[in-house]
Amino acid sequence: MKRFTCDELVELITAYLDDALDQPERERFEAHVASCADCGRQLGRFRETVRALRESTPERKLSDGTRDRLMSAFRARRHRG
Ligand SMILES: [Zn+2]
Repeated sequence: MKRFTCDELVELITAYLDDALDQPERERFEAHVASCADCGRQLGRFRETVRALRESTPERKLSDGTRDRLMSAFRARRHRG
C-alpha cells in the first residue's frame, strides 16, 4: 500500500478532522500518524486548535478563512522545525 508523505498528510489534516476522508484514506492517514512522531505531534496540536475553535463557533465545519490561517501556521511551523 502506498504511504502518504508528510507533505501529503499535512494537506489532509483538516479533511481528517472534518471526517471528510474516505475509509482507505483515513486508514492510511492514521497509519502514517502512528508511525511518524512529528506528524503525530503536529496533529495533536492541530486537533486542540480546531476543538477550541469549534467550541467558540456555532458551525461544526471550519470556515475557509479559518482553515487557510491554520494551514499557514502549520506550514510555517514545519519550515522552522
Ligand atoms: Zn509524517
